[in-house]
Order: sequence, then structure tokens, then C-alpha cells
Amino acid sequence: MRQQEWNKGMYVNGEWVTLAARVAVQNPATLEIIGSVPDASAKEARQAVDAAQAAFPSWSKTTAYERAALLERWHQTIAARLDEIAYVMTLEQGKPLAEARGEVQYANSYIKWYAEEAKRIYGETIPASAASKRILVQKQPVGVVAAVTPWNFPAAMIARKIAPALAAGCTTVTKPAEQTPLTALLLAECAHEAGIPPGVINIVTTSQAAEVVDVWMDDARVKKLTFTGSTPVGKLLMRKAADTVKKISLELGGLAPFIVAEDANLDAAVKGLVQSKFRNAGQTCICANRIYVHEAVKEPFLQKLTEAVSALRVGQGTEDDVEIGPLIDERAVQKVQQQIDDAVGKGATLHGSPVLAGATGYFMKPVVLSDVTDEMVCMQEETFGPIAPVSTFSDDEEVIRRANATPYGLAAYVFTQSLARAFTFSESLEYGIVGVNDGAPSVAQAPFGGMKESGLGREGSHHGIEEYLEVKYISLQLV
Ligand code: NAD
Repeated sequence: MRQQEWNKGMYVNGEWVTLAARVAVQNPATLEIIGSVPDASAKEARQAVDAAQAAFPSWSKTTAYERAALLERWHQTIAARLDEIAYVMTLEQGKPLAEARGEVQYANSYIKWYAEEAKRIYGETIPASAASKRILVQKQPVGVVAAVTPWNFPAAMIARKIAPALAAGCTTVTKPAEQTPLTALLLAECAHEAGIPPGVINIVTTSQAAEVVDVWMDDARVKKLTFTGSTPVGKLLMRKAADTVKKISLELGGLAPFIVAEDANLDAAVKGLVQSKFRNAGQTCICANRIYVHEAVKEPFLQKLTEAVSALRVGQGTEDDVEIGPLIDERAVQKVQQQIDDAVGKGATLHGSPVLAGATGYFMKPVVLSDVTDEMVCMQEETFGPIAPVSTFSDDEEVIRRANATPYGLAAYVFTQSLARAFTFSESLEYGIVGVNDGAPSVAQAPFGGMKESGLGREGSHHGIEEYLEVKYISLQLV
């Protein structure tokens, strides 16, 4: 596949729209420009809502079985192009090919799940207080949905939003992250090929995120915003949603604690930590950010962890056996380096070196920090990079208190072989997702989402489709 071929139009009203203004797409591993997409402005943002609004009456009236069949076909067209989508994702985002393939399959599992879930949008009948009355409750699609997604999971974040929205009978306008628009457009090509009608999915590419998204926030025809990204931008959009009282779902930042109890299986804990911490080079919202190890097992745990981390192979995601690709950009590299410098300056011990000799792209080698304290920046702010800061604790209550002492509440992990501890920890941790002896808890049939400033609402599972449904109560008088 020739890299220069990735010059694409954006997808509005079932058509591929080209514009003179273009946004270049860069490969973070080589710094080469691999393609470009249209640089949309407010005008195209409005046209996308026009298309979604025009498509809504007929799409919302299709039967659940018709929508399920189209989603199932979309699932199949993506599966047929899995290798191509994964390859493009690796080029624009950097993650190793094996991870990119895994992400496309994971994204597709949401499309499959919601194809099935469309058929299970049940209403209710409620006993009335008068013999002549009946109370019915129906679920109806909310209307046009705006979706705004980040670069770290270019396929999954889109599928997790568009699949339940379509299953519910909503139409959509989506703005993918400017760094990773190509994967989004490939998913739209698959949807087009599957026969999803014009206007039901619209993908607007731009470098002017605020200009495009503000049009959607101001437009009363857009009934719902579903956003995944940083907490500051999520708060900004939450405020903007107030003017038209839009429904909102927010999947925001995390600062996951990873607790290794004194009775943990240390091999399982190290395996779970490497899986949680270093997938996508540490650029995941649920990745372990603060590691708390019981002081009784600190030494053997650190030894096993540093061995496992030094064995991780860093390189271009398209190369065989690479486990850690580049970070997304220079700013990300600087942020991670600053966290390392801050920790070392305050007394932490650095195991390994983050410098990858001779690298052109935004590479950082994974490292471990020990003797870390809660005041260090890496324990206070989301890292989004391949460093594993390890602190110790001596008492379960103490570590639960420290783990909860943050505005974030997305994912937490605990490794223990005691059932009682597993329940005490998982019930006391103020997090939407708790992995007990599990470093990879996210699946389509489970509700994914955060508490506190990590967000509102859930994606995945039967809870995920409710985010796109209105509840209507019909009071019926028998006359
Ligand atoms: P970001 O908030 O900078 O960007 C996310 C999206 O918002 C992008 O499409 C961007 O173009 C857009 N955006 C940025 N500024 C905007 C503005 N002023 N108005 C409207 N749109 C705007 O986040 P990011 O750096 O792309 O992604 C990383 C963040 O996403 C991390 O904090 C991570 O934890 C979070 N994340 C959360 C989840 C989750 O499910 N909770 C999943 C993945 C990523």
C-alpha cells in the first residue's frame, strides 16, 4: 500500500465532499505526511446537521429489525477490510499493527452488539390508579446526535458512539480528532458500502475543532452531544450544551490507581500492569497512572516489573513484533519528559532511559519510576505516556483513601487473591470501572464510563443505548 494515497474527502449526506482547504495527516513514527482531508469550517458543519436532520424522520421510523440488519452489514464490511483499516490506523496514530487490528475488532464488536441491542428497546406498562386508565412508556430516539472523538482510539471511540445512536434510531454528525481522520473516513466508507442511508452518518474533518463543534452546540436541532476527550474540553462543552439543554454523555480523562495488595499473585499483577499501562504507549484513558504496591512485596514486584518493561520492543508500529509505538506528537513527549524530570527532581528513582537512540518520530522508551510520592506531578496529572510510577502503602484503608483523593473516577485496578479484599476494594473505590486481577476490563457488553470529573453516562452494554433514547409516557383514558 502506498502511503501517499491517503487523500480523502469527508462524508456528508452520503457523498464524498472535497474542499480546497486541507488538513495534512502526519505519521508520528516517521513524521512523513501520509495524506490529507478537507479542512471544514462552520458552513460545512451546518450542512452536516442539515443532512442529519433531513435523514432523521425516515431513519427513526425504520423498524429495529431494519436498523439491526444494516448495522450487521456495516459490521461485515468492516471485518472484510480489517487489515486495511488497521494499517491506516497505525500510519496515522502510531500504535503497533497488532493493537490496531485488535482495536478494529473491538470497535466492530460494539457495532455487532448494538445491531442486536436495537431489537431490545423495550417499553413498559405501569399499573394505573384508575380502572379507566392505562399507563404506557415508550422509548424514542433523541434526534440528531453530535459526536466528538479523540485520537487515541480512532475507530473504537467512533463505533462506541455511532453504533448505539443508529441502533436507537438517531442520525449523527461526527468530528474525529484532527490527528486521526483517515480511520474515521474508512469506517464511513464501510457504512456507505453497507447501505446505511445518506445523512444517517456524517463525518466532518477539520483543524478548526471549536469552530465546527460550536455550530453543533448552538444548533437546537442537535439534541445530544456525546464527547470523548480531555476533562477541560468536556467541561467547556458541558457549559455550551446548557443553552439548548442538550443531553450529554462525556467520557473524559482518568488517573487510574493500580493497587497491588500484599497477597497478590505478583506475576499476574505485572502482566496486568504491563497490559494496562503500556497498551497504546500509555495513551489510554483507563491506563494505570498511579501504582500502589504493598511495601511487603515492593522489591520482588519492582524486579519483575523492570524486567518485563525492559523487554518491551519500541519501534514503528508497522514493524513486526513492535509492542510500543510513538506518542502522538512532540507536546506529548515533552509532557511525559517533564513528569519524569519532576519525579526524579523530587527524589524518585528512574529505572531505564526514555530516550530511543536514533529515532526520528515521537518515540519514548517505557520506564519505571520507584520511590514515588503522591505530591509528584505523575501522581496528580494524567500522564498519557509510557511511564510506570510506583509508590508503596502499608494499610488497605490508607491506599483506598489515597486512590480516591482525586477529581477523576474512570478506572481502578486491584490485584489480590483474597475475595474479601476484592470486594472491599472494588466497593470502596470511587471509580466507574474496577478491574480485579484484570488489566483489560473493557468489552462491548459491559458499561464503560466514569464517576466524578471523568464523565457522565456510559458506553457499551444495554446502558449505552439508553443515552440515545427519550422516555415518553402515554396516559390513556379508556372512553
Ligand atoms: P481533547 O479534549 O484535546 O480532544 C478531544 C476532541 O475534542 C478532539 O476531536 C478535538 O479536536 C476536540 N476539541 C478540542 N478542543 C475543542 C474545543 N474547544 N471545542 C470543541 N472540540 C474540541 O483530547 P485528546 O487529547 O484528543 O484526547 C485525550 C483525552 O481523551 C485524554 O484526557 C483521555 O483520557 C481522554 N479519553 C477518554 C476516554 C474515555 O472513555 N473516558 C477515552 C479515550 C480518551
